[in-house]
Amino acid sequence: MLVTEAEIVERTHQIGSQITSDLAGEVPLLIGVLKGSVIFIADLMRAIGGPVEIDFLAVSSYGKETTSTGVVKILKDVDNEIAGRHVVLVEDIVDSGLTLRYLMGYLEAKQPATVRTCALLLRQGQHNDDLDIDYVGFSLPPAFVVGYGLDARQKYRNLPYIAEYTGD
Ligand code: 5GP
Repeated sequence: MLVTEAEIVERTHQIGSQITSDLAGEVPLLIGVLKGSVIFIADLMRAIGGPVEIDFLAVSSYGKETTSTGVVKILKDVDNEIAGRHVVLVEDIVDSGLTLRYLMGYLEAKQPATVRTCALLLRQGQHNDDLDIDYVGFSLPPAFVVGYGLDARQKYRNLPYIAEYTGD
């Protein structure tokens, strides 16, 4: 186990409070990247005080592999009009940063008022140091992880904690 359930609960509340104060007076639009971010975004939106909306994007993922293909393709677009909105892009884990970088550019082209980024997990030492992520839950060593929404071949998403995946 790398991150316990209690640690996730505490950090999610801290990030929720931070977003609440950073976007005081606005209605944040959280945009989750399917499917890994669903558990986190559900808890995060409940840690935000006041009105908040959610939407989802789906991108091509690692498929059955546990290493990056380097390809990002939008499989499902957002449903909301995001021009003029205060958007928070919510990722489960940032590894190379390729997905986040691509999606930032994609969303910025739709002319939101602001775009902030939030990642539950950030993998260290993956050339993503230049990425300026506004809200990071936890930094992790280079291990493939599962749980709290993250899968290995669609399994383990329902674990309430984050664990290293070492094989079935
Ligand atoms: P990046 O584009 O930053 O290299 O990869 C980000 C995406 O890769 C994440 O949204 C996630 O879907 C997937 N990913 C990267 N590392 C892991 C991992 O350790 N476990 C799981 N389950 N997915 C990962």
